[in-house]
Amino acid sequence: MKSRPAPRRSGATRGGGPIPIEDAERILFARVPAPVAERVPLGRAGGRVLAAEVKADEDQPPFDRAMMDGYAVNSADVAKAPVELEVVEDIPAGHVPTRKVGRGQAARIMTGAALPPGPDAIQQVEKTEGTGHRVRILAPVKAGQNVAPRGSEVRAREVVLTAPRLLRPQDLAVLASVGATEVATYRRPKCAVIATGDELVDPSERPGPGQIRNSNGVGIPEQVRRLGLECDVLARAPDRLEDLRARIREGLSREVLILSGGVSAGDRDLVVPALKAEGVDAAVHQVLIRPGRPIFFGTKGRVVVFGLPGNPVSAFVTFEVFVRPFLGRMMGYPGLGRRRIKARLAAPLAKKMERTVFWPATLEMTEEGPMARTLPWKSSADLATLARADALAIQPQDTALDADTWVDVLLLD
Ligand code: AMP
Ligand code: MG
Repeated sequence: MKSRPAPRRSGATRGGGPIPIEDAERILFARVPAPVAERVPLGRAGGRVLAAEVKADEDQPPFDRAMMDGYAVNSADVAKAPVELEVVEDIPAGHVPTRKVGRGQAARIMTGAALPPGPDAIQQVEKTEGTGHRVRILAPVKAGQNVAPRGSEVRAREVVLTAPRLLRPQDLAVLASVGATEVATYRRPKCAVIATGDELVDPSERPGPGQIRNSNGVGIPEQVRRLGLECDVLARAPDRLEDLRARIREGLSREVLILSGGVSAGDRDLVVPALKAEGVDAAVHQVLIRPGRPIFFGTKGRVVVFGLPGNPVSAFVTFEVFVRPFLGRMMGYPGLGRRRIKARLAAPLAKKMERTVFWPATLEMTEEGPMARTLPWKSSADLATLARADALAIQPQDTALDADTWVDVLLLD
């Protein structure tokens, strides 16, 4: 294990050429701005990350609770059922028992109601014959049967939710049940996306000669929004330094700025020079990843900037590999990366690659476990193949793989 401080030198990887994915991750994650907690009303907490554990305010259930409609009885009284008992009270849910139930007696009770003093069990109504003030209990019950004792789910002051956790509907419900109507969650970063390139036209237009529809301007913001974050799509920027700088200045007012295109080393690849001219400190510029390679990461104060490759599949994959886990950490939730599982390869990946490759693949369940079938992939612009994929199968750098080898795959949804 190497441990060294994240390079702070401007353009740290520029001269040194592309770096391995793990090195890029180390540099990136060392620069995650510390998440900031804020209290929000429970109704707005869904999809946010809980910042502090939450404890129960009182025992749950707060009283010995009936779990069936039926009769509250003493188990000893009905051991030799059938027996007849006197019904002393009717206790619907939400009502408090007013009478003690003695030996030889019972109370009619509804699911959710509090057990009256005396009885230790409930016989369900189907196993009784009621006649108003008398009831015939047809079968015995064990002590405690059909009763949830006070505190049996959680005790007062017991932790019901630990942090950090992404709040799901069932988590909100548990928060509601303990009266946590305001919860500490991490603030969610605001993002902006800028697609760059002279050749781009709006998806509603028919591209002229040499033009292409701006698919990244739709795909990338949706990847961001899937994480529950707001994402503004700024106007496209042409490949001109002054235009790029103006658009970047606008984007730097958000906390996360994601650009697509213009990050390679071509004459018209002006995104990196424009970012530097706007004071963005470069930390990563090229990574040994395919599809991908040119991928910029830098910061300006607390604002983080990603420059993703223009090729749509490259943009998609580099977002999933780098941006998504980064945003997860910014939201206080490192677990937000795609789920990684092991799958067997259906066909060999016979050619060694000098970069780690993320192959669009379909997944099948077989008796020996999941199997990944990599899709014939035309190029890093091949969106149609990407759209058919369930997963990205990972071929490590400089490694040929036989069929049936177990590989890591990232699950897409
Ligand atoms: P670049 O990264 O600017 O060199 O672009 C690489 C390739 O991706 C080129 O073929 C571009 O036309 C294409 N491309 C760049 N930006 C986009 C975009 N927003 N949507 C679709 N394709 C793009
Ligand atoms: Mg370009």
